[in-house]
Amino acid sequence: MRSAAHLLMWLALCLTLTATTSVIQQANATEASRRVAPGRLVVAGRRLSCGRTATLIRDFEGLAVSSTVIMLNMQALKDLPRRVQWLIYYHECGHILRGPNEGAADCYAVRRARREGWLNRKALEDICTTFNIAGHGPVHADPDQRCIQLRQCFNKKAAR
Ligand SMILES: [Zn+2]
Repeated sequence: MRSAAHLLMWLALCLTLTATTSVIQQANATEASRRVAPGRLVVAGRRLSCGRTATLIRDFEGLAVSSTVIMLNMQALKDLPRRVQWLIYYHECGHILRGPNEGAADCYAVRRARREGWLNRKALEDICTTFNIAGHGPVHADPDQRCIQLRQCFNKKAAR
């Protein structure tokens, strides 16, 4: 009697494990990363490019990272305002072009956005009050400090 119960428990455990495994496999199949060639990326209706840098669309912790490619988590990005999505991409592009310095990457993003004509002072303020732009967490300065820097970069260009 006891061994029968034991066997049942084992069976239940095995079934659970099998079910979990197939769920994981399914998830892997649907979340496989997709590589987008340089210049072919469209985010929230805008074509974004970063020289000869390709983009990898995939699920991971966080919104975006860059090394030799720009990796975007579209699931996490999709609910953000479109300008913020674009700025995040440009921030990562800034890392590719300017290196690991967060301030330099931010500055690159804001100046490029302004030059392209889709970021004005008001939009920048909106973004600053609602959102801490790139969200790789503790790497970045605190949001207030970061916004002060963003404004400085924005204005520096305006002064020319
Ligand atoms: Zn960064």
